[in-house]
Amino acid sequence: MAQVTLEMVAEAGVVGAGGAGFPTHVKLAGKADTVILNAAECEPLLHKDKEVLRDYLDATIEGMAASMRLVGANRAIVGIKDKYHDVIELCRARLPQGMEVCPLRDAYPAGDEFILVYDALGRVIPPGGIPLHVGAVVMNVETAVNVAISAGQPVTEKFLTIAGAVAEPVTLRVPIGVTLSQCVAAAGGPTIPDANYMVGGVMMGTLQADHEALVDKTTGGVIVLPNDHTVIRRRQQPWKEISRIGQSACDQCSFCTELCPRWLLGHPIEPHKAMRSLGFNMVGEANTIGTNFCCECNLCTLYSCPEDLDPKQVCTQNKRRLASEKTKYENPPFLPERAATHLRNRKAPMARLIQKLGLKQFRNVGPLRNDLLPTDKVGIKLKQHIGAPCEPLVQAGDRVTKGQVLGRPPVQGGKSALGTPVHASIDGTVSSISGGVVWIQK
Ligand code: SF4
Ligand code: SF4
Repeated sequence: MAQVTLEMVAEAGVVGAGGAGFPTHVKLAGKADTVILNAAECEPLLHKDKEVLRDYLDATIEGMAASMRLVGANRAIVGIKDKYHDVIELCRARLPQGMEVCPLRDAYPAGDEFILVYDALGRVIPPGGIPLHVGAVVMNVETAVNVAISAGQPVTEKFLTIAGAVAEPVTLRVPIGVTLSQCVAAAGGPTIPDANYMVGGVMMGTLQADHEALVDKTTGGVIVLPNDHTVIRRRQQPWKEISRIGQSACDQCSFCTELCPRWLLGHPIEPHKAMRSLGFNMVGEANTIGTNFCCECNLCTLYSCPEDLDPKQVCTQNKRRLASEKTKYENPPFLPERAATHLRNRKAPMARLIQKLGLKQFRNVGPLRNDLLPTDKVGIKLKQHIGAPCEPLVQAGDRVTKGQVLGRPPVQGGKSALGTPVHASIDGTVSSISGGVVWIQK
């Protein structure tokens, strides 16, 4: 197969498969000394990364090697939880010179890029920064596999774990464009009558009311939970209630700040001050609380706060307001030395988090089922990435084949807008194009 180039990565439609969907060819156009493979999956009950790493190790290594060459790195590090002994042994036996394993504690949020870069390299990304600012490129396992195959085929498949209240928790390989309910059915279906879908995980994912929503390049997994589950109840709490209770019940203990992963890295975020702000008008003060630097990990809300308040939501509201006002926190204080003294001993152990979230009743497994999920119909979203939605290149009635380009980002000022093409994931006929989706029927 031909050597992978940035053009191939772009044309194959490779984007960050870990959730963000940032176009990978743009990331790999930067320069770094280290490529870090993010196999640290820390959302409770999700297992996709280590399952794909185990079964697709050669392709992952190939993708890491191609990425190292493209960014000029001389080192690659596989960040994976230390509890996955079998996968670590497999990696150590097969990784070539220049690549190594960094075993990580089973804690949350181990897979956060800022935490992973610190754990793997001891470097602290500054507030508002990205891994490239400290000489690193971080990529998800599935993204590395997609980079490896980009010389020969585009991204048309997705891996995702289906877990929680389902008959058979599993990690599936599915064509992009199947529905969430097809995936849940493939896991044996819900074991409860009132199934709620948490897409992407219980901590940072979203509660998806539409069970026919489509799987795209960034869908990370589905956790099925009943109506009365604490995670679902808290997601459904209205902002007015969050704000009213927060105002009267927050005792300013500061646990939310003391355990905040970004504060522990020396960033100037103090969620307890955001909570305090609920009680008064923060004109001129709002931008110094540092909510801009909240990564929305939800640890403060679902783990740290002894009063079951929602500092994450308060930070998020504040962050959105500052963004809409275009208010910036100029020259924020940055104390990276805090990481060395505080971070190590304040990590949230996964077992305690699972217990606290009421997830212990569910099987914490997700073995990979490698047969591609069969389907007669898919809906391919024209926007599956950060950037501009693709413009369709096909119309209703066209015959298409798996891998064919269906749409491309628009050309603006003679240049392609940020984004990547999208491709057909099955052979078939375009039945319609509506609501930003190309529907294909076999
Ligand atoms: S942990 Fe809870 S009670 Fe304590 S300061 Fe934060 S929001 Fe308030
Ligand atoms: S969600 Fe809470 S713990 Fe996470 S970064 Fe934001 S303030 Fe910190």
